[in-house]
Amino acid sequence: MTGATALPAGFVAGVGAFLGLILGSFATVVSHRVPQGMGLGGRSRCPRCDRQLSAAENVPVLSYVALRGRCRGCGTRIPARYPLIEIATGVLLALVALRFGLNLKGLVYGAFVWVLVVLTVIDLERRLLPNRIVYPAFVAGWVALAGLSAIHGRWHPLLTAAEGMAIFGGFFLLVALIVPSGIGMGDVKIAFVLGTFLGYLGAPGLVLVGMFLAFLLGGITGLFLRLLAGATGKTAVPFGPFLAAGTVVTVLWGQFLLDAYLGASS
Ligand SMILES: [Zn+2]
Repeated sequence: MTGATALPAGFVAGVGAFLGLILGSFATVVSHRVPQGMGLGGRSRCPRCDRQLSAAENVPVLSYVALRGRCRGCGTRIPARYPLIEIATGVLLALVALRFGLNLKGLVYGAFVWVLVVLTVIDLERRLLPNRIVYPAFVAGWVALAGLSAIHGRWHPLLTAAEGMAIFGGFFLLVALIVPSGIGMGDVKIAFVLGTFLGYLGAPGLVLVGMFLAFLLGGITGLFLRLLAGATGKTAVPFGPFLAAGTVVTVLWGQFLLDAYLGASS
């Protein structure tokens, strides 16, 4: 267990939450602009009246509350998902900070979880996982994890990262080849990234936990939606959010789940 820190847990969680709120705000910008090929520079604008937002209007969550959820220029409703994404990112990064501590590993996994938030939002809105995010995440992930290994002088996690990548990515590639309609290529590509980050924490155990949770969450949700929709036909549910959720839960509590399972079965 890394992240043995002398700092009080409340402080650690607070720093994570603070960074998470700011990065959550940035996640809404990235998830809105990248799929449209827009640059990330420049202030945010109201999509309806094109009014540029002031610095105060960019403050996460609080600005939404102060503006009562409406654009000051045209009165258009600001979607509630914006503050919700900010709050969710704040909570997630607080948990990541508690899990790893305020250190480089926490930073790397915080960035990873942030990317998963962005991809989840885009997949829910547009049913796609853009290469413009997945490819850089793959490259940056390997660079960051290799750097982490070099700094800590521990190379074994890099081997298990490769193992995790092969298991998670390989499985999805296989499924996509056998059942082309069943799984999108975006899911296959991101599976290689997820396997890498889970494998770095421990393979094959944590990688299998992550995959299992993704299918479990996806299956339960799919079942519910089908029941709600009246049990007819296929409801097109993007799988990316479940891959992301299963992975994040595993990053945070996977070892605990694995220990509990192995303890119970022995
Ligand atoms: Zn407006």
